[in-house]
Amino acid sequence: MLRAMPEGHTIHRLAAEHQRMFGGLAVAATSPQGRFAEGARQLDGRVLSSADAHGKHLLLGFEDERTLHVHLGIYGKYVFGEGPAPAPVGMVRLRLEGGGGFADLRGPNACELLEPGEVKLLRDRLGPDPLRGDADPEAAWRRISRARTPIAVLLMDQSVVAGPGNIYRAEVLFRQGIDPRLPGRRLSAGQWRAVWDDLVELMAAGVRAGRIDTVRPEHMPEAMGRPPRVDGHGGEVYVYRRAGLPCLVCGTAVATAELASRNLFWCPGCQPSAV
Ligand SMILES: [Zn+2]
Repeated sequence: MLRAMPEGHTIHRLAAEHQRMFGGLAVAATSPQGRFAEGARQLDGRVLSSADAHGKHLLLGFEDERTLHVHLGIYGKYVFGEGPAPAPVGMVRLRLEGGGGFADLRGPNACELLEPGEVKLLRDRLGPDPLRGDADPEAAWRRISRARTPIAVLLMDQSVVAGPGNIYRAEVLFRQGIDPRLPGRRLSAGQWRAVWDDLVELMAAGVRAGRIDTVRPEHMPEAMGRPPRVDGHGGEVYVYRRAGLPCLVCGTAVATAELASRNLFWCPGCQPSAV
């Protein structure tokens, strides 16, 4: 299976899982691997007071106002378990234990303690997150509506919109019939609003299901009499990693190209060239 950085819905699920397991409890913190030994020592025995996510950043608040910031990157992974924690296997950067369960974090891109001011700095660098109730899509529109950059690149820029990755950006542009190479400044305000509203809906569904599904009911395997998709990422999608296969809507072969070092997928029939 190809490695891919988790998209925002995964991080919101991790926040919810931490809240469910440890919320309001004093947790035992250790760094079996040793690379976060000092941070774990500072967290050990403190109460988890909040579990939050902004885009791809997990933010766990503790009673002394310190925040644990985790960014999984490409290789980071959480494993949760019930019951007493077994002897740690592999490079466990951080283990939290409490309430009859444990959470092991391996291989994150970032695992650090932040002061309140540092959390603000981090969040100020991030664009609005479609999964957050406090998100302001106008903040993203101010950037997009001035940019010569293709909309597909802007949607992956976490300082413009926080959370979507390669799958959601390809799929939302397909669903809205927008040429991914269209410069941001050539989008209409109405198109942006439709992209944002669709991201809110699709990503919330991703949080509920734990996988990315973007295909409308009429294009699901049962409705079309086609076999379900087989792919490491799981869900039913229109264009992501479907290069050369017929579009589920119009039959045109799905196209792919590298754009800003990432593979982009789109349907030339449903997303006609506008550049
Ligand atoms: Zn098509």
